[in-house]
Amino acid sequence: MKDRYNRTIDYMRISITDRCNLRCTYCMPQDISLTSMENILTYEEIIRICTNAAELGITRFKVTGGEPLVRKGCVTLIRELKRIPGVEQVTMTTNGVLLGRYLEELIQAGIDGINISLDTLDAGRYEKITGKNVLPDVMENIEQAVASGVRVKLNTVLQSGVNEDEWESIALLAGKKQLDVRFIEMMPIGFGKNCRGISGRELLERMKTRWPDIEEAADIHGNGPAVYYHVPGWKGSIGLINAIHGKFCASCNRIRLTSRGKLKPCLCFGDTVDLMPILRSRPATEKSDSFGDIESEDMIRRAIAEAIAEKPAQHCFEQKDHITEESQMVSIGG
Ligand code: SAM
Ligand code: SF4
Repeated sequence: MKDRYNRTIDYMRISITDRCNLRCTYCMPQDISLTSMENILTYEEIIRICTNAAELGITRFKVTGGEPLVRKGCVTLIRELKRIPGVEQVTMTTNGVLLGRYLEELIQAGIDGINISLDTLDAGRYEKITGKNVLPDVMENIEQAVASGVRVKLNTVLQSGVNEDEWESIALLAGKKQLDVRFIEMMPIGFGKNCRGISGRELLERMKTRWPDIEEAADIHGNGPAVYYHVPGWKGSIGLINAIHGKFCASCNRIRLTSRGKLKPCLCFGDTVDLMPILRSRPATEKSDSFGDIESEDMIRRAIAEAIAEKPAQHCFEQKDHITEESQMVSIGG
């Protein structure tokens, strides 16, 4: 459906857990108080929301976390999401640590693409950034994912003085392997507020100097804001997600669902529409052809439509004191 700025909203990111097996410095460097399981959406509730969202024109879902693969039954959720009428694409964002264990099942379930976060190619640095010495496992899982033929994108957040110097070696993975590398600007959410990122604009200058024949790739690769570039002869492309310096709000197409059942109209602001009261006071019935009574499902759709209607014209990441989102990225899902 369209929002009040005439943007088509057809993409939902679903955070299925706020738990994670890593402790990335800019996301969740230390344990945070976790939501108890009874306050987390069940998979049945997620499917119920997404079925109603699909009726409103949401055709693509991204499953995220925390780390989605730490929640039991994640693969079954993907399979169920794929079965919802009207759904065109279901993808996942993962840190890749557990991917080898679930890759085959995810493919069987019909996953359309996997984004894997990778900020460094150096094992020691990986441990410093994520708190765990598991880079070889992640690299092996990336290899396996590429070999499986599933669409793979790597997500890299560059930080000044941390991994900035690796931009070229990480970008080169897109030269050698059938995958895209996307550099995401550090966003001032949660712990990210205290980290210094690298602007996509600066990175593009470096890329143009390093590979003078690089060109913007006209075809769109994904669900949103990345602008892609291609170097002749490379297998994959480089995407820049310039959340701060290349405000792409005019073409925003998304809403976010947190694991606590709140719909977030915009990453930057704390405002949410809470679906929990409707879901828990009007539980689904046992009937297989619908979830609850017509009125209950209508209430869910109205709440989703309200979240879409409340989407602001743009974020305000450039004015940090105007940002009202206080949650950590780990509980939003990126
Ligand atoms: N655990 C999964 C993963 O790491 O891919 C999914 C959740 S994670 C929050 C999703 C993405 O958000 C990751 O690529 C991560 O690097 C990115 N991210 C986390 N905090 C961020 C921040 N402050 N600014 C930009 N990206 C951030
Ligand atoms: Fe976990 Fe992903 Fe956040 Fe790292 S970025 S702490 S892997 S949720």
